[in-house]
Amino acid sequence: MAWRAQRPAVLHDAAAPPERLLQAIWRHQRLRRDGLRAADGRTVRVLHPGFWNRAAGPDFREAIIQLADEPPRSGDIEVDVEPAGWHGHGHDRNPAFSRVILQVVWRGARQNGLPTLALADVLDAPLEDLAHWLGSDAESLPPANVTGHCNAPLKELSAEQIGALLREAAMVRLRTKAEWFNTVARQIGWEQALWIGLFRALGYKHNTWPMQRVAELLLDLNTPSLPFHQFQARLLGVAGLLPAELPRRSRQAEDYVRQLWDAWWRERDRFGEHSLPRGIWRLGGLRPANHPARRLALAAHWLANGKLARNLESWFAEAVPASEFAELLSRLLCPVTDEFWSWHWGFTSRRSEKPLPLLGAARVTDLAMNAVLPWFHARAATGGNESAQRETERRWLAWPAGEDNAVLRLTRQRLFARERRWRTAGEQQGLLQIARDFCDHSNALCEHCPFPDLVRSWIASGAAQAH
Ligand code: SF4
Repeated sequence: MAWRAQRPAVLHDAAAPPERLLQAIWRHQRLRRDGLRAADGRTVRVLHPGFWNRAAGPDFREAIIQLADEPPRSGDIEVDVEPAGWHGHGHDRNPAFSRVILQVVWRGARQNGLPTLALADVLDAPLEDLAHWLGSDAESLPPANVTGHCNAPLKELSAEQIGALLREAAMVRLRTKAEWFNTVARQIGWEQALWIGLFRALGYKHNTWPMQRVAELLLDLNTPSLPFHQFQARLLGVAGLLPAELPRRSRQAEDYVRQLWDAWWRERDRFGEHSLPRGIWRLGGLRPANHPARRLALAAHWLANGKLARNLESWFAEAVPASEFAELLSRLLCPVTDEFWSWHWGFTSRRSEKPLPLLGAARVTDLAMNAVLPWFHARAATGGNESAQRETERRWLAWPAGEDNAVLRLTRQRLFARERRWRTAGEQQGLLQIARDFCDHSNALCEHCPFPDLVRSWIASGAAQAH
C-alpha cells in the first residue's frame, strides 16, 4: 500500500500521517478510548466506530457515538487529515455527507460546525509502533468490532449447513421478487411487467427509478416497432440523456449524435413533454460500462428486435446444465454489435481498438437475478406450474456467483468474520436477504436483532443436522 511504502519518511517527519493511516487507526480503535474529547470540550464515547466504507462517501458508516451525557447518536464518520478538509474536499456541499456526526482529524480545532476529534494525542501506542503493527497482516483483518452477534452461533455450523441456511434465505428473496412481478403483472400484463423489471435491473444500483420511469413512459405511449437507431433516439431523448452538444472527439461520435438528434427532433412534439430531467440520473462515480445511456442503447436493440420475451421462453424451455445458463442468456440479451456503442464507452470517449461488450457477465447475472428468473417464477406460481417453478428455483440457486459488492463484503464480515468464497449467486442472494431482513433493522451493535436466536433455534430443532 502506498502509505506503507512511504511510512518511515512520513512518520519521522513532523507532518501529519497520511489519511489512510488515520482511517486504519480509527477502524481498529487504536486509541486511549476513555480519554477522548472533541475540540469543543465534550467527551466522546465511541460505542461503535462504524463500518469502513471503501466506496464514495464518508469513510465510516453507521457509527454510534455519545457526546458528553447526550443520548447516543448514530451516523457516519469522516476522516480528514485536517479540519479544513471538510470544506476543501467539498463535503459541506455533498448530500452524501449529510449524516456525518463526527469529523476525525490528526490535529486541529473545529472549523465546520461538526464535532471534531483530533487523534494526535490519544493514540494507544507511539505512532511509529502503530504504523508497524498496522502494516502487519493484523491490519488487513476485520477488527473484532465488525463481527455481529450472530457470528457465535453461525460458527457452530458446518460449511454445508451454512450453505443450506443461505439457500433458505435465497428462496425467500426469489419469492419476494416474484411477488413484485405478480403485483405489476396484475395491473399491466406479464410482458409489460417483464419490460419494467428489465429496465429496472438495467438501472443497476443507483438508477433503478429513472429506468423504470423510461419503461413506463414507453409502454404508456404504446410505442410501435421501429428500427433500433430510432429507438435509441427515443429512449435517450425521453431519458434526457442526449448530449446537449455534438462531441468533437471523433467523427463517428459526432455523426452518431447528429443522427440521434435528427430522429429525436421529429418526435419531440409527441414525447418531449415526457422527457426526464437529466439531474434525476445519478451519474457521479459510475463506471462507463454502467452508464444508463449505454444501457438504453442496448434496450433499444431489444425493443427493435421485438422477440425478447419469446426468446426468453425458448431459453427457459431448453434443458441446459448450470454451467451454461449464464452464457446462453448472455448471448440472447446481447446478440448484436452496435456500430457506435460496441466501440465507445460513452459519447465523448475515444474509439476503442477492441470491441466492447454491451453487457458484461456481471450485469447478465443482475438481469437474471432481478428480472428474468423472478418473472418466470411468478408466472409459474400464478399458473400453478410446479415443474416450471422448480426449474426456476434450480437455476436461481445454481447460477454462477456474480460480482462482489460492498453490502456482501460487509455482511460476510459481520456474519462470518472471514472471507468466504461464493460459488453461486443463490448464496449471494441469501446473504443479501439476511442483510435486508436483519442487519437493516438493527444497528452496528446488533441491538434487538433476532437472527442469532433464530440460528440457535434452527440448530436446536435439528433442521441444521439434516444438511
Ligand atoms: S444485525 Fe443481526 S444479522 Fe446483522 S450482524 Fe448483527 S446479529 Fe447478525
